[in-house]
Amino acid sequence: MKQEKKNSVTALLAYAGNYKGLTFLGLALSAISMLLSMAPYICIWLAARDLIAVAPEWMQAQNVAKYGWLAFAFAVGGIVLYFASLMCTHLAAFRTASNIRKRGVARVMKAPLGYFDANASGLIRGRLDAAAADTETLLAHNLADIVGTVVLFVAMVVLMFVFDWRMGAACLLAAVISVIAMFSMMGGKNAQLMAEYQAAQDRMTKAGTEYVRGIPVVKIFQQTVYSFKAFQEAIEDYSSKAEHYQADVCRVPQSVNLTFTEGAFILLVPVALFLAPGALKGGNFAGFITDFAFYAVFSAIISTALAKIMFASSGMMLAGTALGRIDQVMCAPMLEAPAHPKKPDGNKVEFKDVSFTYDGAETPALSHVSFTAESGQTIALVGPSGGGKTTAASLIPRFWEVTLGAVEVGGVNVKDIDPHVLMDQVAFVFQNSRLFKTSILENVRVARPDATREQVKTALMAAQCKDILDKLPEGMDTQIGTEGTYLSGGEQQRIALARAILKDAPIVVLDEATAFADPENEALIQKAFSALTKGRTVIMIAHRLSTVVGADKIIVLSEGQIKEQGTHAELTAAGGLYARMWNDYNKAVQWKITSEKEAV
Ligand code: ADP
Repeated sequence: MKQEKKNSVTALLAYAGNYKGLTFLGLALSAISMLLSMAPYICIWLAARDLIAVAPEWMQAQNVAKYGWLAFAFAVGGIVLYFASLMCTHLAAFRTASNIRKRGVARVMKAPLGYFDANASGLIRGRLDAAAADTETLLAHNLADIVGTVVLFVAMVVLMFVFDWRMGAACLLAAVISVIAMFSMMGGKNAQLMAEYQAAQDRMTKAGTEYVRGIPVVKIFQQTVYSFKAFQEAIEDYSSKAEHYQADVCRVPQSVNLTFTEGAFILLVPVALFLAPGALKGGNFAGFITDFAFYAVFSAIISTALAKIMFASSGMMLAGTALGRIDQVMCAPMLEAPAHPKKPDGNKVEFKDVSFTYDGAETPALSHVSFTAESGQTIALVGPSGGGKTTAASLIPRFWEVTLGAVEVGGVNVKDIDPHVLMDQVAFVFQNSRLFKTSILENVRVARPDATREQVKTALMAAQCKDILDKLPEGMDTQIGTEGTYLSGGEQQRIALARAILKDAPIVVLDEATAFADPENEALIQKAFSALTKGRTVIMIAHRLSTVVGADKIIVLSEGQIKEQGTHAELTAAGGLYARMWNDYNKAVQWKITSEKEAV
C-alpha cells in the first residue's frame, strides 16, 4: 500500500520536468516553516518559567519581552516561509498539471481515429482535466502538508519528552488513540465495507446519469421515477450501505477520534493531578506548573496536525485515482508512423485478404476480404446492417489497424504511408460529420486551411449549399450554433460534403447517409455527391440500392465476408443475395408508390 502511494507521487512528479526541484524546495521550506511555527511555544514556556520563578514580583522578570518578540519573529518567519513554500509548490503543480494536459493531448493526437469512436472526446478531456486538477491539489497543498505534518510530529514527540516525559506521554497517548480510532474505520474488514459503500455510491451516480439521460423517454411514456428500477435500487442500496457503515462502523471510532483530537488534554489533566503532590514535595512546583502550561497550550496543535493528516491521506487517494486516469489516456493506442514512408503511386485502393476484429469483440467484423478499386472507379459496399461496410471503409484512412492482411492505397500498404500523406490522399464523409461552432467559411476551410474565400464558395456551390447561404443573415460568415443558427441534418451533411470537395483528395470514402434525407435535401445531396465523386476513386457505403446501379463494382458484405461482387447486371443475373435484396428493394419502392397513389 505504502509502495503504491509513493509510486503514484513519484509517477506524477515525473510530469513536473524541470520544475521537480521547485517541488522539493517547497517541501523543504514547508518543513522548516513547521519547525519555526513550533518555536513560539518554547518561547512561551521560557517566559512562563521566568514569570513563575519571580512570582508574585512579576516586574522582576527581565526577559519576558524578549521572549515575546522572539515568539512573534518565529511565528512571522514560519508564516513567511510557509507562503514561500506554497509559491514553489504551486508553480511546480501548475506546470505539472499543464504538462499532463499537453502530453495527454499529444498522445491522443497520435491515436488512430477509431480510438475517438470508442472514447468520446468529452470523456478524454474529462479524464485529463480531472487528473490535472487532482494533481494540482496534491502537489500544491497536500504534499507540503504531509511533509510539514511529519516534521511536526517528530518535533512534537521530541518536545513532549524534553520538559516532562510523563505529561508528554499523556498528550501523545491522546494523539495515538485518536489515530488508531481513525484508521480502525478504514482498515481490516472495515476497508471492505468502505469499498462497498464507495462502490454503491458510484453505482448510484451512474444510475442517476442514466436516469437523467432517459428523462425524455420517461416523460413520453408517462412513467415515474419508480419505473427506473435500476436507479431506485441503486439509491436504496446506497442508503442501506451508508447507514450500516455510519452506524455500525463509524459511530464509536469517530466519537473516540473526535474526543481525543479536540481534547488532547483529556489525559493531561488527570496525569498532572496525579503528579502534582510529588512536585510539591520535590520543591520544584513552579517548574511543574510551567511544564503543565506548556503542554496544555501545546496539545492544541495536535488537532491541527491530525486534521492535516486526514486531508493529506485523502489527497493521496486522489493522487492514485488521478494517476489511473492519466494512464488510461497515456495508454491510448498509437498510430505508428513508418520509419521509411513510401509514396503511393496512383489512386488504386486494394483490400488484400483483410481480417479485422474490434478490441474486445469475439467474432471478427471482417474476415478475408479482398477487392480492388481501380483508379477512378466507384465501388459500392452494400449488405445487411452489421455486415461490415463501415468497418471496411474505416480501414482505408487507417481509423483502425487491420488484424490480418493489408489495405493498400496506390500500391502501398497504408501502414507504410506517412499518416499526413494518407490523410491528404483520402477524403472521407461519414454520417456523423462534425461541424465546429464557428463560421461556415471556417468550417469548410478546415479541409484546406490555405483555401481562398472564392475556393470555399465554389466548393459550397458544388455541394449545393446555395440555399443555406441565401437564408443565413451573413452568408458564409454566419456562425453555426450561435444565436439560434442551427442547421438541419441534411444541411450539415451538405456542408460536410463541401469540406470534402474543397479538400480535393483523389480518393473519396463516403457514407451515403440517408438518415437526414427529406426529399428536397436528398436531391441536393445526390447532386453534391456527384460533384464530389467525379473523376475520383470512390468507396461508397450504400444504403439504397438505387444509388449503386451505376457503380463499377458492387461488393456485397454480410457477416464480415464478401458474399458476392460484380456489376449490377452481373449480380442481378446471378440470382444470389444481391438479387434478393434488389427484388425486395423494388417491391418496397412499388409499395411506396402504390400507397402514395392510393392516398391521393
Ligand atoms: P455495417 O456498416 O455494415 O452496418 P459495421 O461495420 O458497422 O457494419 O459493423 C460490423 C460489425 O462490427 C458488427 O457486428 C458491429 O456490431 C461490429 N462493430 C462495429 N463497430 C464496432 C466497435 N466500435 N466496437 C466493436 N464492434 C463494432
